[in-house]
Amino acid sequence: MYLAQVSFNIPEKGGRKKAEQAIYTLLGAWVKSGQANTFADLHLTSKGRLRAWLTIPEKRSLDKRHANKWVKKALRELKSQGVGKPSLVLKGRDVEGWCPCACKKSSAFVLKTDYLSSAPPVKCLDCFGVIPLYSLPASDHDEHYELLIWNDDYKACDTLQMNCRTGERFGIAQMSDHESSLARRGRELCREIEERTGTPTYYYLYRASGTRRTHDNESKRPCPSCGGAWLLDEPIAPIFDFQCKACRLVSNIAF
Ligand SMILES: [Zn+2]
Ligand SMILES: [Zn+2]
Repeated sequence: MYLAQVSFNIPEKGGRKKAEQAIYTLLGAWVKSGQANTFADLHLTSKGRLRAWLTIPEKRSLDKRHANKWVKKALRELKSQGVGKPSLVLKGRDVEGWCPCACKKSSAFVLKTDYLSSAPPVKCLDCFGVIPLYSLPASDHDEHYELLIWNDDYKACDTLQMNCRTGERFGIAQMSDHESSLARRGRELCREIEERTGTPTYYYLYRASGTRRTHDNESKRPCPSCGGAWLLDEPIAPIFDFQCKACRLVSNIAF
């Protein structure tokens, strides 16, 4: 992923508020189309331009060929407000070090994120590279809104778990129980991605550590959904020790 700086010339006479609004609409549309992962608030430069920082999955993520109808609409609105075309400067790779998937064709995808990650939540199960959301057929109104909401909710649950103060057990249960509200929504999104792409899409079920969770016991753990054996001979990607092809679930041996 890349850190990018995007800046805009604003109209000389009045209308700055409207221009700001139009720029925020564009930044939001870029996130919902998957062209940007995150953006930071606008600020005014000493040269009177408006500037924002973005993380983007690929160097050319903001190209028009990846734009959906909402991004195109926001760009038209920008023009009508007299705002110049966005000018983009790449500032380097982000420290998380996520790379886009480089496979010719992934054999499977996995839906996984964590509290720190700003990468898109769909990864390739072969190379564990990021799948930019704009490369997936969009579901709702030409956007990836439901996927992004799930991503935010998962990160919120993981944050509760990491902070160990409020709602820790709630957060862990949401991430580990295959029938939690979070998991049901995530698995539904996996089914939708699979339907649209024809690529098997797995849901990652978190397995927390526990005092009675020895490696031996853990290895015998069956798939929580169908009760079948799902331990892999070799882990796939960084942490998946279990995979149930029938239930489209992957998981880890307790940390
Ligand atoms: Zn890949
Ligand atoms: Zn199963």
